[in-house]
Amino acid sequence: MRLFIKTLLGAALSASLAVSAQTLPQIKILATGGTIAGTAASATQTTGYKAGDLGIQVLIEAVPQMKEFADVSGEQIFKISSNNMTDEGLLKLAKRCNELLKDPKVSGIVITHGTDTLEETAYFLNLTVKSKKPVVLVGAMRPATAISADGPMNLLNAVRVAADPQSVGKGVLITMNDVINNARDVTKTNTTNVATFRGGELGALGYIAGGKNYFYKESTRPHTYKSDFDIEKINKLPRVDIIYSHVNADRVLVDAAVAAGAKGIVAAGTGNGSISEREEAGLVDAMKKGVTVVRSARVQNGPTTASVARWQEEGILFSQALNPQKARMLLQLALTKTQDPKKIQEYFDKY
Ligand code: ASP
Repeated sequence: MRLFIKTLLGAALSASLAVSAQTLPQIKILATGGTIAGTAASATQTTGYKAGDLGIQVLIEAVPQMKEFADVSGEQIFKISSNNMTDEGLLKLAKRCNELLKDPKVSGIVITHGTDTLEETAYFLNLTVKSKKPVVLVGAMRPATAISADGPMNLLNAVRVAADPQSVGKGVLITMNDVINNARDVTKTNTTNVATFRGGELGALGYIAGGKNYFYKESTRPHTYKSDFDIEKINKLPRVDIIYSHVNADRVLVDAAVAAGAKGIVAAGTGNGSISEREEAGLVDAMKKGVTVVRSARVQNGPTTASVARWQEEGILFSQALNPQKARMLLQLALTKTQDPKKIQEYFDKY
């Protein structure tokens, strides 16, 4: 009898879960690796651990609370430390997002990702995902095995944001440490601290607190469903290198990039994207060979603007408030459409 009642209760519970699962927003979690799936030998080890060790099912089972507000299922795309992310990886991820988001049953996507290059992947998806549905990237700064691991709460929050109708049409989002940022403006600002992702002077979009999402702002720059870029038929992105300027900078790395087949170079200049005269000579020769050159800045805040008149006359473009690694993403995508410097500068002015 007791067994029978237990069975009945069990059946009723699974029936009600099945009903609620049908009505809850369906969120796909695409796992790529990173510290959020990292394991270390001890609970106090927070550096030198193995990133991307745990599979997506383990991460999902560690946070059963997310099933209260979303019907979640996982998919393992990669198991890498994100310093090993590649152009091919980005294309694969963007195509998978577009494929999943076409399905009317899917409400949104969460992507677990290493924090090192998370901002680049986020910005690439921000320009290539063709949907208003939420796409939220999330990582962790402490491996899953650490005391006070930040991954589980970050994942819960990411699913909460992805399942929230307020997140629709806001472009690709990043949730870490209870803060919601947008893909365009966010950058990793601290090598080891959990409060690492910040939008700098352009700020965050909102917060997650007490189980609620609070949005305050939106970017004015077009993204996702309003983007000009379509990667569906693209299998390879043009090579674009970043050259970091410094005292005594010469043209050796510029020439090396050209020799390696770069179609574009982002100069991570000093100050307002300044380049040394020796770098400039190399960049001008690169442009004569058809390479597109964009000045960005190694300084964290502020736009890189038109500056020394000669640089404009030479045809060197400028990135506005995109940091070098994001300027690289935009230049790669721009070069899939045109080599016309005027048109490419328009993309930088627009995005
Ligand atoms: N190296 C790791 C990665 O980017 C760091 C992290 O996830 O925080 O995958």
